[in-house]
Amino acid sequence: MEVCPKCHTSADEILETGFVGCEKCYDLPSIKEVVDKMYGGKRHKQNEK
Ligand SMILES: [Zn+2]
Repeated sequence: MEVCPKCHTSADEILETGFVGCEKCYDLPSIKEVVDKMYGGKRHKQNEK
């Protein structure tokens, strides 16, 4: 299971609650994937403008 090295929140917990414990949580592979999907789409639209 992936756990944040800084705040020890598990990736499962973050995905379930939608809250990260700290900025290091974004370094977890599963979190990165979700964040990339969320913000990747937004970034794309901004570029089109
Ligand atoms: Zn963390």
